[in-house]
Amino acid sequence: MVAALSAMAAASPLKDAKRIVVKIGSALLVHQESGRIRREWLAALGDDVANLRRRGKEVLIVSSGAIAVGRRHLGLVGPELKLEEKQAAAATGQIRLAHAYEEALARHDITVAQILLSPEDTEQRRRHLNARATIATLLSLGAVPVVNENDTVATAEIRFGDNDRLGARVAQMISADTLLLLSDVDGLYESDPRTDPNARHIALVERMTPEIEAMAGTAGTGYASGGMVTKLAAARIATTAGCRMAIVAGIPMHPLAAMEAGARCTWFQASDTPRGARKNWIASAINPAGTVHLDAGAERALTQGRSLLPAGVTEVTGRFKRGDLVTVHGANGQEIARGLAAYGSEDAALIQGHKSREIEAILGYRGRDELIHRDDLVLTD
Ligand code: GLU
Repeated sequence: MVAALSAMAAASPLKDAKRIVVKIGSALLVHQESGRIRREWLAALGDDVANLRRRGKEVLIVSSGAIAVGRRHLGLVGPELKLEEKQAAAATGQIRLAHAYEEALARHDITVAQILLSPEDTEQRRRHLNARATIATLLSLGAVPVVNENDTVATAEIRFGDNDRLGARVAQMISADTLLLLSDVDGLYESDPRTDPNARHIALVERMTPEIEAMAGTAGTGYASGGMVTKLAAARIATTAGCRMAIVAGIPMHPLAAMEAGARCTWFQASDTPRGARKNWIASAINPAGTVHLDAGAERALTQGRSLLPAGVTEVTGRFKRGDLVTVHGANGQEIARGLAAYGSEDAALIQGHKSREIEAILGYRGRDELIHRDDLVLTD
């Protein structure tokens, strides 16, 4: 559905956002001719990010630009680089990129943390959980994670390939509520604004429909690998995971402040029944590795939407590793839920019946308080 600017988009759009993923494309960050990082622009973006952090919002940046920056330093010219040249460029450019973010945010006493992800890290459960826990820890410590694809070792067949979808995957992984794609366009148009001066801008997309998908056309400007096609793919991933998304004009200085001040952009509304791909994956897995049995109190807590704590566990059966999928059985032996265990079966058996604060003394390390976090738990229908 396409609608006029709604109250949601008109009010200060980031007011209620708690966890924001900001995706920054190469075309914004890197001068096309010189291959240099646009430091002033980045400093202004750093001001915007610091401003959001001061208002208690968590911010994670997904940044492109490693290849665009690195190729210049390696003297790689020509319109098309070979895969290994791109990878060499990324290895050089990523250092410079990370350093530039470091500088831009150090001015505000904000620590930057670099995270390079491969598709396995978001698609495989255990790695997904690990990456998620690390990112959550960084956010809780006040750092701003800067994420890119691990381009240097990715192969052509197994890549995210574009950071729009990587941004959406990361937003989904960390349960972000808002994903902002900073772009060289200020949103979605009914037709291509570069060729049609009368193209109508769309302020709000309530739902992804074939009509909306058709508006993407074929895209891709300069050396950025994104375009409207990958942005709409990102919108699909994010919105079905319950995360709203916006395509925002990123070229001007202070793009986030401008957006908050009412600059034009396109919002994609989050689905209001977002069981998310992850929960669907959990619910539909066919091969659970073990079972956790609960007492009546823990069963009640679960059905009220809470996490599963070791204290309510009466028995652990099967052999599973951290991140594996297990079934959860209630006091009368029936399956009541499925979820991803935060501990392997041996450790789970050791901590069953114990308070979470005793975990460290029992296992010798401090893991999560929950045996299964509610984000990783789906009640059986
Ligand atoms: N990961 C690539 C880079 O940093 C960019 C991918 C994209 O443009 O979306 O150069």
